[in-house]
Order: sequence, then structure tokens, then C-alpha cells
Amino acid sequence: MDLSRGSRRPPAAGLPPLPGPVRLPSPLEPLADPAFARAGLELFLKRDDLVNPAVPGNKWRKLLPNLRAAHRLGLRRVLTFGGAYSNHVRAVAAACAAWGFESIALIRGEELAGRPRNWSLAGAEAQGMELVFVTRATYRRLRHSLAEPETRRLLTRRFGECLLLPEGGSNGLAARGAAGTAAELAAQLPDLGPRDVVACAVGTGGTLAGLAAGLPPGARALGVAALNAPGHLECEVARLHAEGFGRTFGNWRVDHGHHGGGYGRVPPELEAFARDFEARHGLAPERRYVAKTLRCLQLLAAEGAFAPGTRLTAVVTGPPDPEPEPADAPRPPS
Ligand SMILES: *Cc1c(COP(=O)(O)O)cnc(C)c1O
Repeated sequence: MDLSRGSRRPPAAGLPPLPGPVRLPSPLEPLADPAFARAGLELFLKRDDLVNPAVPGNKWRKLLPNLRAAHRLGLRRVLTFGGAYSNHVRAVAAACAAWGFESIALIRGEELAGRPRNWSLAGAEAQGMELVFVTRATYRRLRHSLAEPETRRLLTRRFGECLLLPEGGSNGLAARGAAGTAAELAAQLPDLGPRDVVACAVGTGGTLAGLAAGLPPGARALGVAALNAPGHLECEVARLHAEGFGRTFGNWRVDHGHHGGGYGRVPPELEAFARDFEARHGLAPERRYVAKTLRCLQLLAAEGAFAPGTRLTAVVTGPPDPEPEPADAPRPPS
């Protein structure tokens, strides 16, 4: 879609406030944990899960700059993509409802159209989002060709002029928004630098791209892959660095050893870790991303992967799901 043409409204003032409090900077909490102390490591949690109840975590940081841009361009409608349990789709529905945009999501799996909605899709629909169920083949084709003018023309013909947000909402603007987490951290830990490793989960890579870009010299970002896609995720983060910041960064890497078997998979050892973490710290980690990240850090710490004296910060990118994704949920072929 060519944003430089077409009907527009005149630029208006900023977006109205979101319902519920917006907690920025998000809290930074030290966590006393013997598994880390034994390895001579400090651990902090950056509680992005507490940013806003309706649009939590990294989704707030990634969506806000995009919706501001849409508002400036006079776009009234947002179109995005996601799976049946997509946190991004729910966050877009909530943010659009709060800020007065119409929202549409193309959902992977046309077989879901006639079934009762799961809690995630029901939540999105309750915010007024229109769900369009598409086959996995169509979904894949659209996702991969979103940047192509022909795809944009096709989507604009069908859905009208929209802000097109890619899967997971990760684009250059989103990465710039996600850099806010690092900027806050630098203010909360004034000596943030060479002894710091800041970790976050990686789904589509926008959060890691922003985190790495926003860290001060010497500090390193560690992304924990939540899906099995070595190589691809690195390409995505590099692409987002080019798109959002016009340069490359050398202070990050992606761990591919702790995705638990693939996206959405929660193997028994991960579930056990999450329950134990909750019992010890009173914080139930979200399973698909946050628990994988925390468990990865704990296992790497036990292996001696971090030099003693390292200060680890885990970004808690979102709150736990109200209900887990069923283990037998249909999955795309990968
Ligand atoms: C969406 C999401 C992620 C993944 O973020 P990306 O920017 O897509 O890599 C991580 N954690 C939580 C809780 C999420 O909802």
C-alpha cells in the first residue's frame, strides 16, 4: 500500500490514553535465586508484563509507534495476521478498540471459522476485531509477500486502506519502540555496561532487535528462541535493525537450544520449571516465551556459560495466559 496517496484525514492530536494505568518505566526487580547466586550471578526482572493490562509487555512498546504513525496518516483501520492464540492479535484488538481504529486479523486456519472461538479469539472479537480465517497456504503466501505491492493492492482492494502490520507486529517502528525497554533499563541501572546480559524471548525478533539497539556500549542482548528457526531469526533481527535503525549491531545473539520443541510447545520439564519458579518467587511465568527464557538462563548459569559477576536481566515480555493452549492444537506444517 502506498501511504503517500489516497484519502486522509488531517493530522490530529495525540492518541487518547489507554484504559487502565500505563506503568512506564516498567518496574525493575532484583530476584534472589540460589540457582543464579551459586554461579556468582545477579538476576533482575524487567517487568514489561506490567506495562498495561489491555496491551501488555512488548506489544505495547511495539504497537504504540505504529498506531501513532497510522493516526498521523489518517488511517482508520489496522490489518494484521496471527495464529489462533496470538498475543499480538489480542493486543492489536485491544489497542485499536482503545484508540478508535477498526481492526481486522487474518487468522491462520480456515477450519477454525466454524468452530467455537477459543478464549484468545473470543477476546479479540469482543474488542470489535473482525476475524478472517484463511488457509495455511494463503496465510503463508500473504505473510511472505507482505512487502510486495501486488499483495498490498490485493489486501487494500478487499479490506480498504489499512495500516498493514506484519505477523507479531515486528517492523522497524516496532523495533524502535522496543528499544524503550533498554533505555529505561539504562536509567534504572546507571552502570549498565560490559558486565550485563539482558535476555528476552524471540518470536518474530522485534523485541530483541530493539533491545540490542537500545543497550549502551558493552552490554549484550541474548534472545531465547521460542521456536525452532536457527538462521531465520538472526536474519529477521538483522533486517529489523536495518529497517528501524539503518545499521547493524554486534552485541546480540540468539540461543536456539531452549525452545522446548517448537512454537507453543510446553514440554513437561518446562511446565515443571514454571511451576517451581512460581512456587519460589510468587510469579507465574507466561509459558510460550517467558518461561523458556528464564529456564534457558537458569540452565546456562548452571553450565557456567556466564562469567561470575555477570548481571543478568530477564525481560518479562508478557503476562501468563488465562488458559494454556491445548497440546493437541492444530499446528502449521513447518
Ligand atoms: C509476542 C511475544 C514475544 C515475542 O516478541 P517478538 O518481538 O515477536 O520476538 C515474547 N514474549 C511475549 C510474552 C509475547 O507476547
